[in-house]
Amino acid sequence: MDTNSGHRLFRLSLLNPKSFNTFTWIPDGALVTNAGGNIAYSGSWSDLPREYKILPVVSHENSVALPGFIDLHVHLPQFHARGKFGKDLLSWLHGVIFPVEAAFANPDVARRVAKSFFTSLAMHGTTTAMVLVSVHEEATDIAFEEARRSGLRVVMGKVNMDTDCPEDLRESTRESLAATERLIGKWHRATDKLWYAVTPRYALSCSEELLRGCAELAARSGTYIQTHINETIEEIEAVRERFRSSYTELYKRAGLLGMRSVLAHNVHPEEAELELLKRTDTAVAHCPDANLFLGSGKFDLEKHLQHGIRFGLGTDVGAGTSLSMLRTMRAMTYVQGRSLHPAGPLYAATLGGAVALGLEDNIGSLDAGKHADFVIMDFTTMDADIHDLSAADAAAAVVYRADPRAVRGVHIGGAHIYSRAEPVTGES
Ligand SMILES: [Zn+2]
Repeated sequence: MDTNSGHRLFRLSLLNPKSFNTFTWIPDGALVTNAGGNIAYSGSWSDLPREYKILPVVSHENSVALPGFIDLHVHLPQFHARGKFGKDLLSWLHGVIFPVEAAFANPDVARRVAKSFFTSLAMHGTTTAMVLVSVHEEATDIAFEEARRSGLRVVMGKVNMDTDCPEDLRESTRESLAATERLIGKWHRATDKLWYAVTPRYALSCSEELLRGCAELAARSGTYIQTHINETIEEIEAVRERFRSSYTELYKRAGLLGMRSVLAHNVHPEEAELELLKRTDTAVAHCPDANLFLGSGKFDLEKHLQHGIRFGLGTDVGAGTSLSMLRTMRAMTYVQGRSLHPAGPLYAATLGGAVALGLEDNIGSLDAGKHADFVIMDFTTMDADIHDLSAADAAAAVVYRADPRAVRGVHIGGAHIYSRAEPVTGES
């Protein structure tokens, strides 16, 4: 049938997040993608509409499809600096990270790291990422070229810094904004998978003039904004001393809050700050693995939920030790010091991230009409058998038992962008 040209039919289990507390589990499921790269059908095999029954079937035994992971906060230049000892946030940043980022003045370094970074994201099942580069315009240009080549959906920006950083990374306020404007012109919406995010690093590395300039640029060009907030007590005290206000108040004053803004961490907010984030509809990227690594503190999950603040999960490599959202979901539980039902981390790593980006109509779950961004995971690697799994067990296996070997294939917009070298059963 002509109407089915370009359609593909998969037979496998489906795990589909709906909210922080709910998801659907379909042990014998069908997923149909169309030529436009969208999901045409997602549901039980027995309810597969007649017109799709003539399609060749790609069966993945003892495997599950779930939405591609959304990494809401990750630093590209720090990919090879993961896990380096640095004591706490500020000593780690100045002692370990700034020298690593200075090397991105060399375009060959930027190219090599960007290539391996995007390849590795895909291998881990991440299909959308919000990425910080270094201060360098050329390195950011190269990162966008490699992002386009990778096929991932990428929201990204060059870091802006004009204060309290080494001489070789410090920009003039004017040049920092001018370079950002050039990159926005070249890359924001350059393809349907690329977005620019204006990226003032964090309050301490920016003058208030730069923070304001960043906000104005983002408002004028319709880009995202990404930065850090309330990560450690020592940092928050330094912000208060310099700017004479809370972290969130400062960002509000500079114009950085709003529905296109994603702030990483928010580990130590005051009540008034949470209210301000809610009032401005600002989103948060929770980065539990990084918080554990640097000992930054415990993210107040309940309060973010109570206030209805949009949030997702970020690996925050390189304070995060891995690009794996599987490990990050697990860290989300560990940081709470109590066992979380797997529905929560599963949502935060997928649909929660999509909601934080305002892209939930297009990505984040396996609902028909959305882009066909999905990851196929192999229960065998988790020592699990779908015939024995309840819905909660299936989600628990993915969240608490899977390691990176479980990622068997990754599709973005219907395109097969990663496959672990193993045979797939094809029937016709
Ligand atoms: Zn970060």
